Amino acid sequence: MNKETKNNVTYMTFDLFKSAGIKHGFSTRLGGVSTGVYGSLNLGFNRGDSDENVRENFKRIATALDMNYERMCLSKQTHTTNVIVVEEKDAGNGIMHPIPYDNVDGIITNVKDMPLVTFYADCVPLFFYDPAKQVVALSHSGWRGTVGKIGKATIEKMHEVFGCEPKDIICGVAPSICKNCYEVSVDVANEFRKAFGEKADKYLLRPSTFNPDDQDKYMLDLWEACHQVFLEAGVPEENIEITDYCTRCNPDLFYSHRIMGANRGSLAAFISL
Ligand SMILES: [Zn+2]
Repeated sequence: MNKETKNNVTYMTFDLFKSAGIKHGFSTRLGGVSTGVYGSLNLGFNRGDSDENVRENFKRIATALDMNYERMCLSKQTHTTNVIVVEEKDAGNGIMHPIPYDNVDGIITNVKDMPLVTFYADCVPLFFYDPAKQVVALSHSGWRGTVGKIGKATIEKMHEVFGCEPKDIICGVAPSICKNCYEVSVDVANEFRKAFGEKADKYLLRPSTFNPDDQDKYMLDLWEACHQVFLEAGVPEENIEITDYCTRCNPDLFYSHRIMGANRGSLAAFISL
């Protein structure tokens, strides 16, 4: 991934998506007007920061990414695997008018100049672009979304509605918590064993390095889990780009729920046709 700065706003981009010529980016904390625990580019409304600050932050990143602020379409995430197609009438959802849906963790569109926006602070942001059918999508893959394989659900919906073929889709995993930072309990580990079979212990789970004497604690690799989900959905290896930036390892650059708890700002993913 690349770290880029424009008009003082710092954001991350994927090589694959850049080469494909699609506007996209993942925000950092840098370049906004918010202060204190929200400092400075907080993109989460209703987190205790002022709406005025959040709106100014949205305008700043929209300008940096060359995207249309007024036509942005926001998700309403609740750790589900619900993925919906958003249409022309959804332009401005969460920015110009209230969001008409709830429990939506993935959004897909073929509408031009309507940037999709999803929110994060350690959970895994997934990016999708089909250059053949001109369709984009974003989905939010926390541990629940990853167990439910929201990455695959997104690709299946892109296929069902727009005829997208997995071999054409490029996929990205953006900054989120890394395998050396993400400790989970045995119940979560068992959910991954159920969903991923033998791949879970082979690729995704290791004994905890934080609590090496606790048999009920594991380190979980969400990036590799999402990678496996993309491959399962039929996406070729060369179409997948995985970040090397961890949100918890870089608290000066990103908000991290594991470090900061609920008193923090939100990062956001953006993509626009
Ligand atoms: Zn880390």
